[in-house]
Amino acid sequence: MKVVVAVKRVIDYNVKVRVKNDESGIETVNVKMSMNPFDEIAVEEAIRLHEAGIATEVIAVSLGEAKCAETIRTALAMGADRGIHVKTDEELQPLAVAKLLKAICEKEKPDMVIVGKQAIDDDCSQTGQMLAALMGWAQGTFASKVEINDGKAQITREIDGGLETVELSMPIVVTTDLRLNEPRYASLPNIMKAKKKQIDEYSPEDLNIDATPRLKTLRVDEPPPRKGGGKVADVAELVDKLKNEAGVI
Ligand code: AMP
Repeated sequence: MKVVVAVKRVIDYNVKVRVKNDESGIETVNVKMSMNPFDEIAVEEAIRLHEAGIATEVIAVSLGEAKCAETIRTALAMGADRGIHVKTDEELQPLAVAKLLKAICEKEKPDMVIVGKQAIDDDCSQTGQMLAALMGWAQGTFASKVEINDGKAQITREIDGGLETVELSMPIVVTTDLRLNEPRYASLPNIMKAKKKQIDEYSPEDLNIDATPRLKTLRVDEPPPRKGGGKVADVAELVDKLKNEAGVI
């Protein structure tokens, strides 16, 4: 069973995001970038399937600027077998990413594609669903457990107030939720080994995909500054403030 994992390079989750002065977007110059946290979970799950003898090959795919190769190397150091980099300096929106992943699926013919439930930069949560639709494949979204038996996948999904388990016929798209697993750190020997692993490079044109953005960001706003807190003398004052200032009771 071949597994493709999508890994996006995003602003590190520890960084306090700043809006550009002209409100046209987010400041990314000199900002620490890392693999999208949900994609680390995706890589970990694929590697566990490999270690369990269920997956035969794990391919890490990233789409975007030259530095996405670093994100692929991180996935290779965690244990993925090889990488694919679709290199472009154009902004890639979820539909374009889904179309590019589809082109890669048509080349590689995987049985399973694992993507994050959302990228923490654009928060779109669209790519996995769009890919499944474009491929005509079943999808198991927001997965907190993945089990493969007799060519079928049982996916436990995190839904409002509980869990839902669905059975899917391969090939499938899985999107990862936070509780699926705890990703491993790459060890130094594996980081060294990853340097020798193969990364194939394509452009969107090589894959015959028009990746032109369909949406235009009009403006990005900072959240309103939080008001400072204060001390209350007694419960009566607290209740009064909750009622008359905050208006929550
Ligand atoms: P989104 O739909 O943008 O929230 O992204 C959902 C998931 O799609 C991410 O967690 C990644 O697994 C994948 N993805 C989105 N954009 C890219 C990209 N440029 N390169 C690799 N994977 C991506």
